[in-house]
Amino acid sequence: MKPLPKEFDVLAIEEKWQKEWENMGIYRFDRNDKKRTVFTIDTPPPYPSGDFHMGNVLNWTYFDMVARYKRMRGFNVLFPQGWDCHGLPTEVETEEFYKIKKTDVPPDKFRKMCEGFVNKYIAIMKNAIILMGCSPDWTTEYRTMDPDYWRRTQLSFILLHKKDFIYQGTHPINWCPRCETAIADAEVEHETREGTLHYIRFPLASSREHLTIATTRPELLPACVTVAVNPDDERYKKYIGKQIHVPVAERNVKVIAESMVDPKFGTGVVMVCTYGDKADVQSVTKHHLPVIMAITETGKMNENAGKYVGLTVSEAKKVVAKDLEKQGLLEKTEKLQQEVGVCWRCDTPIEILERKQWFMKTRLLTEQVEKTAREVKWYPDYMKARLIDWAKSLDWDWVISRQRVFATPIPIWYCTKCKEIIVAEPEWVPIDPKLEKPRIAKCPKCGGIEFIPEKDVLDTWMDSSISSAVHAGWPDNKDWHRLFPADMHPSGTDIIRTWAYYLMVRNLALFDEKPYKSCLINGMVLGNDGTKMSKSKGNFTAAPDILNRYGADASRQWAAGGGATGSDIPFRQPDVEYGWRFQRKLWNAARFSSLLLEDYASVEKPRLELLDKWLLSRLENIVKKATEAFENCQFNIAIEEVRNFTWHEFCDQYIEAAKDRLYKPDVYGRESREAAQYTLYTTLYKILQLLAPVMPHITEEIYQTMYKDAIKSPSIHSTVWPSFDKSRISREAEEYGDLVMALISQIRREKSEKKMPLNTPIKLLTIFAEDQKNTLILNQAANDIAGTCKTEKIEIIAKKGKQGKPVEGYADINYIAEY
Ligand SMILES: [Zn+2]
Ligand SMILES: [Zn+2]
Repeated sequence: MKPLPKEFDVLAIEEKWQKEWENMGIYRFDRNDKKRTVFTIDTPPPYPSGDFHMGNVLNWTYFDMVARYKRMRGFNVLFPQGWDCHGLPTEVETEEFYKIKKTDVPPDKFRKMCEGFVNKYIAIMKNAIILMGCSPDWTTEYRTMDPDYWRRTQLSFILLHKKDFIYQGTHPINWCPRCETAIADAEVEHETREGTLHYIRFPLASSREHLTIATTRPELLPACVTVAVNPDDERYKKYIGKQIHVPVAERNVKVIAESMVDPKFGTGVVMVCTYGDKADVQSVTKHHLPVIMAITETGKMNENAGKYVGLTVSEAKKVVAKDLEKQGLLEKTEKLQQEVGVCWRCDTPIEILERKQWFMKTRLLTEQVEKTAREVKWYPDYMKARLIDWAKSLDWDWVISRQRVFATPIPIWYCTKCKEIIVAEPEWVPIDPKLEKPRIAKCPKCGGIEFIPEKDVLDTWMDSSISSAVHAGWPDNKDWHRLFPADMHPSGTDIIRTWAYYLMVRNLALFDEKPYKSCLINGMVLGNDGTKMSKSKGNFTAAPDILNRYGADASRQWAAGGGATGSDIPFRQPDVEYGWRFQRKLWNAARFSSLLLEDYASVEKPRLELLDKWLLSRLENIVKKATEAFENCQFNIAIEEVRNFTWHEFCDQYIEAAKDRLYKPDVYGRESREAAQYTLYTTLYKILQLLAPVMPHITEEIYQTMYKDAIKSPSIHSTVWPSFDKSRISREAEEYGDLVMALISQIRREKSEKKMPLNTPIKLLTIFAEDQKNTLILNQAANDIAGTCKTEKIEIIAKKGKQGKPVEGYADINYIAEY
């Protein structure tokens, strides 16, 4: 065995192994291996934002620990890596950078501009993933913006269309007027904002009476299609069925009864506009009301708004209010805190517009989603409710078309003459209908020969919600079902309603099968003030600052140990620093061991002494606990158990107690030294293995120097996870060892309290052991006690002492140390 050097450079060691692992290819998935059981991880393809934050450090550490643990457990692990490239943020950045709008340049040119940003950001994020010591199989790397991936997304669209899960329809949808695109319910965020409640008088037709309506959206008066009151509201019952005049719009509508109206909100009279909110959408359907759209796709008033045409929504709000005031119809205004739906990307309040869109029938599957979600194993279990509650809360089907450019094209054309929809055949994809014609001579319905391409594109979640099938090799590999459903789908609390849900609903529709067998959920990373980390709040820590300063292994210890799986965890730099110090402690213990194991030759049956048995029994308990914790994805428990054992029992207690035996075979005998060597060798190796999923670099460095020649495995990460050795468990050894350790610690404590160096010799140590049994125990470890406490003479007496210093935790045992 080679000795470890005294000093070590964490960052240099980490970089070295990151390169070496890739050269060794030890993390590659072996598709041809039919012997080992496969374990597939549905790695989330990250969105290349170029920003790798502490949240990424947390979730990447989770996936990577699982991958490493499972490999050591003997699985053939598929840990793929892709990039979810398409999306609004890149388009917005491209528009801002080039100072253009998406429509200013041809779509393929705009695409190319977007790709430039994506490639740059992929390089940054790939570097960060490597820097963290993650172990994906880089030969599987893919990008959803490549035509080879579109092919799969488009094929899934075509198949779902054939199965009647996809339809085109004109329905109300969430619309971002800034991004000029439809967005799904999952992309609408809810914020509390201050609004103004306007109390507006609606005169009743052919009467001098009026009803007052409180609304935050007076600009929607031109889109008002009815006025509603609760049928049980005594104040207004008599007006039901009467005609009422809509100010500004200058037309009459009917007053209707609607039980959804809350008599306590505002005045208890509401106007129904198309559309102010989702309740309006429901009323329109229920009462067969007409639809008058007054807002354009860019958020301006249209010709239906009369003289307000061309104004923005917020301009119109002010002008309409002024006009009402002039007409004496504005009773009063008051401030109001209200919940507003805003665009996830740009925070602009969304509008509800009607526009032709493509939808996927998702609500149809809600029951099946719920049933399947219950079959999936969730870590932690309570997270499944989030998916189920979300699925049940959806009012609308999934709008899958977007009015953007940088996304997978919808493989559809329309016949110019008869408007027939031509869907691409599976063999045609990948295809961009804007650049290519359908591969048919004429329209099957009318024989027309001209076609207009579908310009809309697919929602990005249409790309990423087939990830587990694509990872398995769908549709090209005949045996893709061998790797599907994924064994583990890692997700975050923030993307359960998108990624975990869309995958579920999509795969149930496509393959009638769940996409994943288990789901591992990570929480969010909070700033040091306990709130969500954000750059604007000043509680933000950039991941590269931490990784470049402390390295990956220390950062990963924070991620693994920061809190229970699924809970939000604060970023605490002291935790990373603790991880850093722990590495130093581990290194020092390993270096000490390497020096004393230089001449170590494995012994068949070492004659173990009490403290050897004590440590080995403790070690097996830790193997058991850590294994159970990894099996249940309780990473914080695993790391805490192993670190505490290593730091306190192995380093502080055992090594100190066994030092003399190891240094002085002439005094204590060769066998006594061999037993301590055996214990050191065995314990350190298992510790390294248990820590390897969390701290892959330093454990590898120590393994390569100290163990590789004997163990013969090319890397610690390809060694076999330690199995729990029950024969090593000895309650007696643990009980007795605890007593000895308590005595040793007490004496060492006494020396430091007296400000004496720890190696101050004790001339005579008299121990009053209470009874015969304790005397026997202490006698077994007399060498270790004498060695550790530097005792020249030791006397163990089988009775209670009177003036001695008691041993903590053992009230009837005490001792007198004479210096
Ligand atoms: Zn937006
Ligand atoms: Zn036709």
